[in-house]
Amino acid sequence: MNASIPRTRSPLMALDQALSALLRELVPLPAVETVATIDADGRVLAEDLVSPLHVPPQDNTSMDGYAVRSADVTAPGVVLPVSQRIAAGHAGMPLLPGTCARIFTGAPMPPGADAVVMQEDTREVGGDIHGVHIDVVPQPGQWVRRAGEDVSLGAVVLARGVRLSPASVGLAAGMGRARVQVVGRPRVALFSTGDELVMPGEVAPEDMVAGAIYNSNRFFLRRLLERLGCEVSDLGIVPDRREATLAALRTAADHHDLILTSGGVSVGEEDHIKPAVQQLGTLDLWQIAMKPGKPFAYGTVRRDAGAGTDAGQPCHFIGLPGNPVSSFVTFLLLVRPFLLRLQGVPLAGCLHAWRPIRMRADFDLPRADKRREFLRVRRNSEGGLDLFPNQTSGVLTSASWADGLVDNPAGTTIARGDLVDYIALSELLT
Ligand code: AMP
Ligand code: MG
Repeated sequence: MNASIPRTRSPLMALDQALSALLRELVPLPAVETVATIDADGRVLAEDLVSPLHVPPQDNTSMDGYAVRSADVTAPGVVLPVSQRIAAGHAGMPLLPGTCARIFTGAPMPPGADAVVMQEDTREVGGDIHGVHIDVVPQPGQWVRRAGEDVSLGAVVLARGVRLSPASVGLAAGMGRARVQVVGRPRVALFSTGDELVMPGEVAPEDMVAGAIYNSNRFFLRRLLERLGCEVSDLGIVPDRREATLAALRTAADHHDLILTSGGVSVGEEDHIKPAVQQLGTLDLWQIAMKPGKPFAYGTVRRDAGAGTDAGQPCHFIGLPGNPVSSFVTFLLLVRPFLLRLQGVPLAGCLHAWRPIRMRADFDLPRADKRREFLRVRRNSEGGLDLFPNQTSGVLTSASWADGLVDNPAGTTIARGDLVDYIALSELLT
């Protein structure tokens, strides 16, 4: 992929256009692996899961009570002798006409019975016959869970390209699957650029030299990558020197599917990412009409001839802006769909990887921006949204405080009470 976008001083590119340029020709990873179903949460299916059985396998009761032939109970007050007892996990005998079966939730319906009377609607009758007084007239099928009502035999329950959730992992297990085939984990090399960066734990706050800042991007980018199922090689901070940058890119390309960097992609900046990636492959520097997060780079880095099965195929390169909030938001809106597509999620799902909902703004945004803005907001207890007061791209507190983003179109002001498009961060963080 090599989108023909001018490199500098270009008109701004729309986010949707950037996303489609990024995904359009992206080929999902070919590697498939078989994993235990219990470990498959977050992975993308490489096969259709077809159910080999009905779930539930037989008609069974959804209540503790008495299984009956509904025709035997024509009016409230009928007394039926109890002819058998069926607990979950045990099969009953055919139900003798004119009798009922004591039955417990999940137990299969005995042949002949067509309804269950819940025990709250019965009274035990003492004396010689062990029977129950039925207080209600059951409808046929009452409190019966039908065989196959959840999943029917032969159905494609989860299709190739579906990203598994905890519930779908349970569903796969419910059809007897102990293992499933999933797409291989993207191997991502992560590094930060910037001579101002120091690592927490390596330099104490009181020992920081003027101009130094802690590397926060490394922490959230790594966690975001891992949440998306990536295998991350953390290359730490690469010094702002040409040779070091080239060396890091060369080593990373051979063993990874994607090299992800932060910093050094702003226009006119003196940095080494741009020329180094250009020297080793291709680079498109985009100015995306979004705020935060204008600068964004996509490219490829050639692999060594000796790079094993990957030889010949270039490694993807994505350069995120250095400002923490820009880095965070561009990751969620561009890199996340990229990584989903790389794992075989269908293109349409990656182009629409979030679904905004309309919510009420409990704030004013009197000044419109030329760019589409992603405002850090939080839901309040009145059903509206509050705005984090400082929306600049260096203030990471806004992203930590927020539970969502308002997708505000370019040139649009917001007045208190307006309905706006809210994207829940919880949707973007999985
Ligand atoms: P850059 O994109 O390299 O021009 O960086 C833009 C701003 O983000 C500068 O103020 C950098 O100091 C800051 N920055 C860059 N990388 C990081 C990082 N890894 N952690 C925190 N801040 C960063
Ligand atoms: Mg920099």
